[in-house]
Order: sequence, then C-alpha cells, then structure tokens
Amino acid sequence: MSELIPKSAEIPDSDYVIVGGTGDLALRKIFPALFWRYLAGQITTEFRLIAAARTSMTVEEFAATLRPFCADAIVDEDDGEAQWAGFIALIRIVALDVVSGEGGVTLAELVNRRLSPERPLIFYLAIAPTLFGAACDTIATHGLAVPQSRLVVEKPLGHDGSSARAINKLLLNVFDEAQIYRIDHYLGKETVQNLMALRFANTIFESQWGNHAIDHVQITVAETVGVDGRASYYDKYGALRDMIQNHLLQLVCLVGMEPPAYFNADQVRDEKLRVLRAIQPIAPEDVVRGQYEAGEVNGAPVTGYLDELGKTSNTETYVALKLTIENWRWAGAPFYVRTGKRLAQRASEIVITFKNRPHDIFTKPGAPAKPDVPNRLTIRLQPQEGLRLQLTSKEPGPGGMRLFPSELNLSFDDTFDQRLPDAYERLLMDVARGNQTLFMRLDEVLAAWDIIDPLIADIKQHDLYKYKAGSMGPAQGDDLALSDAHAWIDPHVGDA
Ligand code: NAP
Repeated sequence: MSELIPKSAEIPDSDYVIVGGTGDLALRKIFPALFWRYLAGQITTEFRLIAAARTSMTVEEFAATLRPFCADAIVDEDDGEAQWAGFIALIRIVALDVVSGEGGVTLAELVNRRLSPERPLIFYLAIAPTLFGAACDTIATHGLAVPQSRLVVEKPLGHDGSSARAINKLLLNVFDEAQIYRIDHYLGKETVQNLMALRFANTIFESQWGNHAIDHVQITVAETVGVDGRASYYDKYGALRDMIQNHLLQLVCLVGMEPPAYFNADQVRDEKLRVLRAIQPIAPEDVVRGQYEAGEVNGAPVTGYLDELGKTSNTETYVALKLTIENWRWAGAPFYVRTGKRLAQRASEIVITFKNRPHDIFTKPGAPAKPDVPNRLTIRLQPQEGLRLQLTSKEPGPGGMRLFPSELNLSFDDTFDQRLPDAYERLLMDVARGNQTLFMRLDEVLAAWDIIDPLIADIKQHDLYKYKAGSMGPAQGDDLALSDAHAWIDPHVGDA
C-alpha cells in the first residue's frame, strides 16, 4: 500500500453530543466506534464527547457501563489502560430530558464554552424517533442549532412514506438538509465501499456491467438472530420496513447506479435516486413473505417468532422480492433480494451471475451439451469480507479438455493485514468532515418508501409462509427465483 496515502483523514476537532448516550445504540456502537477512532488518532484530546440522557450518572459510572463494550480495544501491549483513561477524560455527562427541556441550559453552557464556527457541533439522536421533534426543539431553543451544527439520525425514519415525511419535516424545521446525516450503516461497511471501488476504480467490469452481459443479480442478507427482546418493536415493522426499505435497496442502488461524474455527496446520491425511480411496481407474485417457526440454529434449539412475541401476528421475518429496474442498463436483468431472521447462517452477499456462453466449442457437434457454469462475481459483505470470481478452468493433466468451475478469491481479511473498522467509525468521522456521500438524502428515503408503501398497503394480499428456524426461508422464496429458472445461491461461510 502506498505510503503517500494517509490511512486516516484528518478531521476537525469537534463536539459530539449523543442524545440517548446511555442507551443500547450508544453503548454498543457509537462510543466503541469513537474509542477506536481515538486509538487511531483521529479523535484528539481537543474533542468533547457528551452523553445526554434523563438518568444522571457520573463519568466513572458511565465508564464502568461502557467498558465491556470497548474491551476488545483495550490491549495491554498498546498501553490500553492509559488510552482508555485518555478517552474517558473526553466524556461529559449531561442529564437532559428532551421532552420537558430540563437540562437544556446545562447542555448549552457546556457546549458554549467551546462553541466556534470552525468546530463541528454534532448531535447524534440515539433516541426513539418519536422524540426527534422534541430533541430538535430543545437544541434550537437553547441556541445550539448553529451553522456548524450537524444532526445524525438512524432508521426507523418512519413506518411508511407519510410518517417518514412527517419526521423529516420536524428535523427540517430546525436544520437544513445539508446538516442532516441519515445513517444507513450498511453504507459505512468497508466491503460496500469497496463495491464502489470495484465498479468505478477499475475498467474491466464496467463493460460487463449491465443486461448485455449480466443475467441477474442476487442480494442476500441472512441473519441467524431472532428478535431477541425486541419482539414488540420489530412486530410493528417487519422485514420489509426494517431491512428492505433501507439496507437492501441501498445495496441495489450501489450495484445498479451509473458512474457519477465525481464521488461526492450530491452526485452519488443523484445516481442512486435514479435507480430507485427506475424500479418498477412490484407484482404480487414477485413478493414472498415468511415467518419463522421453532427450529435449530447453529446446533441450538430456538423458539418460533410467535412464541417470542407472545401473540399471533402477520408480521414477516423474511422477505424475498424480484425487482425489475427499467432502464437501458438493467431492463431484462432482474434483481432478486431476500432477507430473513433465524436463517441457517449469518451472511450478506451480492452475487452477480453473468450470461452463459453463446456457444460451447468444447462439445463435439451433435454430442449432448454440457450444462453451463456461468461466471459469477460474489461480493461478500459479512462475515469474512471479500470477493470471489467464479471462472471455468481446465482440469490439469492429459486426457482431454475437462472443464470445472474454479474460483479466484480475494479475502480482505487475508489481503489487508489490519482490522477492518466498524461502519460506525467511518460514518462518525464523515459527519465531522462534513461528508454526506454515505448518508441518505431525503429524496432517496422517500423514493425507497414509494417502492415499499404499495406492498405494505396490500400486505393482506401476500400470504405469510412459515419457515423453520435454521432453514434458508420458506420454499416459496426459492420458487420466486425458480420461476425464472434461477436458483438462490446460498452463501458459503468459511470458504471466502
Ligand atoms: P434505548 O436502549 O432504549 O436507549 C434510549 C436512550 O434514550 C437512553 O439513553 C435513554 O436514557 C434516552 N432517553 C429516553 N427518553 C429520553 C428523553 N426524553 N430525553 C433524553 N433522553 C432520553 O434505545 P436504543 O436501542 O439505543 O435505540 C435508540 C434509537 O436508535 C432508536 O430509535 C432505535 O430504533 C435506533 N436504533 C437502535 C439500534 C440498536 O442497535 N440499538 C440500531 C439501529 C437503530 P434515559 O432513559 O436515562 O433518558
């Protein structure tokens, strides 16, 4: 790797205010990501990290709660304890209730001590979306919605297009679109960014990237987890809203988009938006919904969704869809996407299957044709990030031209001898740098809802098929691809 390229871009000294700083998202994702960036030197001692929530606690109590989530990063040989102490010294705790506004004055006093136009003031709303409006009002009331302020929010940004519009209106009452960072953490994953490098930093794929050479695309995001204590939350959303509307459609966009003129926020998001707008309304026969029943995952028995929830429900924990993108590049080359909980393995993959050979020169005229093994590019997003290219090769040795499928493997784990940063690390630093490229613009969010809303409105039309936990979903999901003579390609974890 070139020594000329810095491994970490410099970012300006900033204040991060994590509203809901004591909650699950903050403890599991946000603060550990900030700690890793502190270890990397991107967060300096000039930063302040403010955890705001109703419950008041001391920094010591907070540090003790946070520590288990950062344990991996506290390494003795690297002076781990001193590093941890240095990081904790950046943290301030403010007791704040965004609904009553109590604590707002204290927060403002703390922030104002270092307020400066050059110093980004970042508010991360790690609270329920029902509190977003109140949080924005509290920020504005105390004079903290200044030009250098930035607002970070996460899904769920609504449960349909109209509620997404309503929530975003509350944000836009206080902040400009250019100040709002809507996180889809999939976009921060190294492999997802690598997909853009693969497509737009290399020339060999571009000439093959479209319906003239590609037969179809599959995207699988499979989870082994169930709803683990989040059943009542999840039941209001289901896989269509929780996964397809955001993560999977974003992946479709990155595979399907045209090359932007430059890799900047507006141009990248313009191109993604064009893909979303080219996706055709999804026919009822192109949607399969499923819900897991009791079964066995990774050798352990697990209960079914309804038992976890404690009542009956029509919410899907699995969805498979066929999407058609009607533009010159993709018409006739369908995208199949599927996602589910309690599936056989945890793996996210994009598989691009190229067309068969137009003619087989290796079979004698008149002899029965041998089945084609198409070229296939597999982009593994997680785990064991990497790329695989399936080629057809000649079996070594004499005795004729015996062909067999072989693979070129690029495992990022093996190739890059360094830890792959978590998506949140990248995204949190991008906020401080003012780079919105990997965040969703409002028109993208709404265009994605335009695709999903009609499915939700007609949800009763779509049967809900049961599948056994530990399988790869209901058989009807397989039939969806089979109806076009395609089969799902299940991820093979362990051989990337
Ligand atoms: P959580 O564990 O319930 O934490 C909520 C946080 O908000 C707590 O710190 C809570 O502390 C604080 N809070 C509640 N009411 C408040 C108020 N009126 N004023 C100020 N702070 C208040 O929830 P979470 O799982 O972290 O989720 C937070 C948000 O992120 C949700 O919208 C969720 O959907 C989204 N999200 C979470 C995850 C995840 O992995 N957890 C992933 C993606 C998206 P006090 O009770 O002390 O006030």
